[in-house]
Amino acid sequence: MDLRIGLGYDLHRFGPGRSLRLGGVEIPFPLGLVGHSDADCLVHAVIDALLGAAGEGDIGRLFPDTDPAYKNARSTALLAAVMERLKKAGLEVVHVDSVIVTEKPAVAPHVPAMKRALCPLLGVASDRLGIKGKTNEGVGAIGRGEAIACWATALLQKKA
Ligand code: MG
Repeated sequence: MDLRIGLGYDLHRFGPGRSLRLGGVEIPFPLGLVGHSDADCLVHAVIDALLGAAGEGDIGRLFPDTDPAYKNARSTALLAAVMERLKKAGLEVVHVDSVIVTEKPAVAPHVPAMKRALCPLLGVASDRLGIKGKTNEGVGAIGRGEAIACWATALLQKKA
């Protein structure tokens, strides 16, 4: 078996006048995440985990935030483009796990919708995508509600 593992991390600041998109889902919240694209922190971490496992660099190299083409881009569209690259390289997703670190909003109620949005893109069943919410126990910038951070791991298999 030819297995590859990747790790991804991302952080975005909260800011006004933006909708909060996380895991491909719009979440009702007074603040959104600031970024060049739609700033979907979870999808960005997942993309970097996939690219790391595939040996294909990182999200900033593939989709530079200086490129107007990616202004307000849907991160799920970027994920779909990454999955195309993986497919061409003969790689398929075995499992993805992730953690969303945020003080607010609560993540758990939105996990089923995130899975419905992301599993078809990743080509996996619901039990092969983990999404867990954690607070930062009030510590640091995340604890003060200034930002969301996400971690993701991806296990890929190269088809024979
Ligand atoms: Mg990002």
